[in-house]
Amino acid sequence: MTFDHDLFVIGGGSGGVRAARIAAGEHGARVALAEADRMGGTCVIRGCVPKKLMVFASSYRAAMADAAAYGWQVQPGAFDWRAFRAKLDAELDRLEAAYRGGLKSAGVAVFDCRATVADPHTVALADGRRVTAKHILIATGGRPSVPPAVAGAGVLTSDDIFRLETLPRSVLIVGGGFIACEFACILNGMGVDVTQFYRGAQILRGFDDEARGHVAEAMRAQGIKLLTGADAAELKPAEGGTWVRATTGEVRVFEKVVYATGRAPNTGGLGLEAIGVALGGRGEVIVDQWSQTAVPSVYAVGDVTDRINLTPVAIREGHAFADTVFGARPRPVDHALVASAVFTQPELGTVGLTEEEARAAGPAEIYSTAFRPMQSAFAGRPDKVMMKLVVDPASRRVLGCQIVAPNAGEMIQLAAIAVKMGATKEEFDQTVAVHPTMAEELVTMRKPVRTA
Ligand code: NDP
Repeated sequence: MTFDHDLFVIGGGSGGVRAARIAAGEHGARVALAEADRMGGTCVIRGCVPKKLMVFASSYRAAMADAAAYGWQVQPGAFDWRAFRAKLDAELDRLEAAYRGGLKSAGVAVFDCRATVADPHTVALADGRRVTAKHILIATGGRPSVPPAVAGAGVLTSDDIFRLETLPRSVLIVGGGFIACEFACILNGMGVDVTQFYRGAQILRGFDDEARGHVAEAMRAQGIKLLTGADAAELKPAEGGTWVRATTGEVRVFEKVVYATGRAPNTGGLGLEAIGVALGGRGEVIVDQWSQTAVPSVYAVGDVTDRINLTPVAIREGHAFADTVFGARPRPVDHALVASAVFTQPELGTVGLTEEEARAAGPAEIYSTAFRPMQSAFAGRPDKVMMKLVVDPASRRVLGCQIVAPNAGEMIQLAAIAVKMGATKEEFDQTVAVHPTMAEELVTMRKPVRTA
């Protein structure tokens, strides 16, 4: 049987674009890709990239205060959201064009419309056309999910924040995960009056407990009204925004309410179940180690599979899929010891086991230190940095590294290489410190603070 294409990719985000470019550009496959929205997907258009630029933008308020403390004569003014947004929009246009250019130069045919799956080898385009392919790759990512009770109540999600025409004076953020905490810090830094409700006892569930405590303390010290054990019980439109009654009984009107209560895989209406692709309880596409679904010609990569929902993981999965299916180089993706960072202020960088995970798995030695770093201490700020190594007492391997610090994302990337290589605590210690830095503490912690 002949097909129009060797591969049809549904979704032009990080995973789909990488798979398409490698399959076509490196392995000579005839590839098509459909994207209903802007090319680049969540990471480039409404996630990591604009978020990080907002992190930078928001950090200058504290930097200006520090500059004054260091002797500079500064006269900070207000943050001009419109000026920033115009530059942000231009940058996203540039990146989107670069993504399109990359696909074009690899020879990928692009369809700017929604595509669904009609049968194991046929894709139906929104304009009525049908296209056949030997393989279909589902790379449709995820989308913000809000509790059904507030859907339609006019609450915003992370998608909407990048498109705000003006910055609100006050905002309520509901949720305690990556996105809620990052936006609480960003908006606070930009001068918005931020309240955050998290239903549990401590934000950033799943991360190292000590690290979570440090981040929460720093967020409160910056002026974020972080309430744990709190949720929005009732919301209604009111003069000046939304009237909110908290489960704790407090009432207040917020100009905007943002729900950052998780993300869900984008599989609705794709036609996957009808052709026999198995979906999990959250709607995620079930795949094996080769990213292959229950239908042999259909594969899936990235957030739509709900494995580890991070851009670099989606890119690895897309690349490995293309090498496996079109490059005669079968290789599964190694999902172990993936480092990540939460871009709060300060950042939280993590790789491997948390202290709690290590204790649950067996004996562990914990090396941990918290201190006021030189730069902000000199400026009179109370900020603290935390560095932690989780060590297996038998093998001496460093099983986990946790960092709360300015630029912890940069530090954890480097520490992750050693952890991934299986470095022991003694090998960390043999490494001579770079002085004076914050990260030198990673190689100078002599005695465990706890053993369990
Ligand atoms: P998370 O799953 O990390 O957090 C969701 C938060 O919302 C949790 O605090 C959760 O509480 C809370 N929540 C869930 N449902 C409700 C509800 N019905 N009412 C009140 N609170 C609720 O999701 P995010 O949206 O923050 O992020 C999604 C994923 O995107 C992340 O897991 C990560 O993989 C990725 N991401 C990565 C980033 C990075 O690398 N820096 C940045 C942003 C996103 P509870 O803990 O009690 O369940």
